[in-house]
Amino acid sequence: MLFLSDFYKNKFGCKVYKIALDAHCTCPNRDGTKGTGGCIFCSQSGSGDFIENSVFLKKQFEEGVCLVEKKAHGRSGKNKALFLPYFQSFTSTYGNFEKLKELYLEALSFKNVCGLAIATRPDCLSFQIVELLKKISQKFFVQIELGLQTSCEQTGKFINRCYTNDDYKNAVALLKNEIPDAHIVTHLIFGLPGEKKSDMLKSVDFVLDNFTEKKFFGIKITNLYVVKNTVLEKMFAEGKFECMEMEEYFEVLKLAFEKMPEKAVIHRFTGDPPKKIAIAPQWALNKKSVLNYANKILINR
Ligand code: SF4
Repeated sequence: MLFLSDFYKNKFGCKVYKIALDAHCTCPNRDGTKGTGGCIFCSQSGSGDFIENSVFLKKQFEEGVCLVEKKAHGRSGKNKALFLPYFQSFTSTYGNFEKLKELYLEALSFKNVCGLAIATRPDCLSFQIVELLKKISQKFFVQIELGLQTSCEQTGKFINRCYTNDDYKNAVALLKNEIPDAHIVTHLIFGLPGEKKSDMLKSVDFVLDNFTEKKFFGIKITNLYVVKNTVLEKMFAEGKFECMEMEEYFEVLKLAFEKMPEKAVIHRFTGDPPKKIAIAPQWALNKKSVLNYANKILINR
């Protein structure tokens, strides 16, 4: 397995920074098409809490680049670096097709952009969207991130994700078939209500079973955290849910990493909620200590 920064470096020959963008979509289990209320953990901004709140894509992109520059202390400007526009909020393939097309193409026109990354649900890949991404992939790198969270259908129902494992399997098969050059990423969450360590590892196995070819694929694993104004916040306040402790989380993550084949690209291995809406766990807010711990437990392996 390798980490995302190395994957990008090998592919593009330089550092690549993802710039999170908001296409102002919604989600079928928020607008009533499949359900209402959204997943029990999903924030009001549909997981796009770090994005500059502008209706103008260019402004969002520029703000994102500024933020990256600040974090990299200007290094992204000194050494060659590329940017990957990343449509992250809600379901970024769900909405008016012409509008989405316009936004994707606009993002590709920004300076020093090396491709397009899109986060979506497995049940939101229409024929038109797939055809468009297929076309784009002939010229640019295309990364498609599918939410799965868990392979336990019972948990899936409980968290109100409103799609099934079969939706996920079909989406992976469709993307592999129609957009063979696309880099497919799957998002899993560890610590969902009622899940044991064995359930989390089963979800990892389930994802790996869908990627048996000798081709790079991505996996993003995050710890479940509680943010304001969610169903999970209420459960947490009522004592009906507890977050995983940091040691517990990394123990399972370590076992998950042991399963990873050579072609697995680790996109993330922790989730850090934005401070202004974070409720729990407290350990996830201290990024430095989390990374130190991760180094000790995982990286030195
Ligand atoms: S599918 Fe994604 S965007 Fe929709 S409610 Fe769930 S986490 Fe939020």
